[in-house]
Amino acid sequence: MQQDAIIIGGGFAGLSAAYILGRARRHVTIIDSGTPRNRFSVHAHGVLGHDGKSGAEILAEARAQLAAYPTVTFVQGEADSAVGAADDFNVRIDGHDSIPTRRILLASGVEDRLPDIPGLRERWGKTVLHCPYCHGYEIGGGAIGVIATHPMSAHQATVVADWGDVTLFTNGMPEPDEATLDLLAQRGVSLQPGVVTAIEGETDTPMQVRLASGKGITVKALFAAPDLHLRGTLAQDLGCSLEDSPAGKIIATNAMKATSIAGVYAAGDNARAFGNITLSSADGVMAGLGIHQSLMFATAHS
Ligand SMILES: Cc1cc2nc3c(=O)[nH]c(=O)nc-3n(C[C@H](O)[C@H](O)[C@H](O)COP(=O)(O)OP(=O)(O)OC[C@H]3O[C@@H](n4cnc5c(N)ncnc54)[C@H](O)[C@@H]3O)c2cc1C
Repeated sequence: MQQDAIIIGGGFAGLSAAYILGRARRHVTIIDSGTPRNRFSVHAHGVLGHDGKSGAEILAEARAQLAAYPTVTFVQGEADSAVGAADDFNVRIDGHDSIPTRRILLASGVEDRLPDIPGLRERWGKTVLHCPYCHGYEIGGGAIGVIATHPMSAHQATVVADWGDVTLFTNGMPEPDEATLDLLAQRGVSLQPGVVTAIEGETDTPMQVRLASGKGITVKALFAAPDLHLRGTLAQDLGCSLEDSPAGKIIATNAMKATSIAGVYAAGDNARAFGNITLSSADGVMAGLGIHQSLMFATAHS
């Protein structure tokens, strides 16, 4: 049966959109491959009313509540192709089943590509972090490292300084300019030159940041900015315009989360520069409203 909307990605953005559309009694299918971005962290924070729950628990509760809406269908799988035009798209799942739909929401999130430093990947989301607002409080102060991986890493160090005593590992990146050095000094950030070769330690915390010189510096937690990449190529395959953000390419959307292609919407981390659970959920709500309005007033918003 043709769906009013297919939502590709059942994370925070996708489920929020499904919630809006299900409550409008629209037929919506969510296709989800089950790997939300924050799956590496045991606890999520900064989400009002859910402090300290795991992301998986929040999503499971949301899915259970959505199951009560008879027009909402959940499919476990990977959407691997999306073709067509507004009111007449087809989305294929895992290379076989193809579902017709009037609208598509891309809520497939982003992939974090981490710096290739031994010992870093296995600590990702635990003691190697990217967002102090999500996990900074739990560090409880003390020695914190920031590894320069990105032109904005110096800025990240000045922010993280509110959560502890920060060392910025320059890691072979160009020396910050005078104004940035002044700001780092004002924020009490010390600079540690040299390339980081490994993160070591028998336990997750404390850990040693090993430099090429052989020197090791002990920290309780480490921040690193990953390279962000859209997951899959469905946005590009459908012809959606992308735009640059400080964190990487994102899908360009208008205020209602409509992309440049009629009938295709995008919400969550894949369509904003810096995302978190609440912001992605809000984007999903906006996309749900945008899709619903476009179904009612086809020429106004499609
Ligand atoms: C380590 C870590 C910890 C974090 N901790 C916090 C925190 O404590 N608090 C907070 O607010 N934010 C946190 N974040 C940020 C938060 O995880 C993201 O902002 C949020 O998950 C984005 O929601 P989303 O719905 O856009 O994408 P996601 O939650 O990543 O969901 C995308 C979904 O789409 C699915 N998918 C992708 N492609 C396809 C496809 N082709 N077919 C079917 N399904 C597909 C994926 O499997 C996934 O389930 C953290 C991020 C990281 C990396």
